[in-house]
Amino acid sequence: MKTHSRRELFKFAGIGSLALFVPALGRLAHADEILDPESPQAKALGYVHHYEEVDPERWPRYEAGQICANCQLAQGDMEAEWMGCSIFPGKKVAGKGWCNAWVLRQGS
Ligand code: SF4
Repeated sequence: MKTHSRRELFKFAGIGSLALFVPALGRLAHADEILDPESPQAKALGYVHHYEEVDPERWPRYEAGQICANCQLAQGDMEAEWMGCSIFPGKKVAGKGWCNAWVLRQGS
């Protein structure tokens, strides 16, 4: 049976760690993508980058004052122009955006 030196074992461990790390970097890069309102997922929920674009006849749940920045499903900094959303993982939504899944944020 072939034995490996300590140096070789560290080398293998390093390559293994890199194999785990590189795909994680790819996911981080995608986390900053802005949600395309024309994507099928966004269209299905009527997502718009600005609440003034909501068509209230098409989306009767919409009420004035509802925006991503006061939605329970938004993630990250609620003061930022763009933020995460648990409905659209890996995408950024606009703080002044809206979609039909809007839920009042606790404490708003
Ligand atoms: S679920 Fe909330 S935060 Fe996400 S897009 Fe819809 S309104 Fe915005």
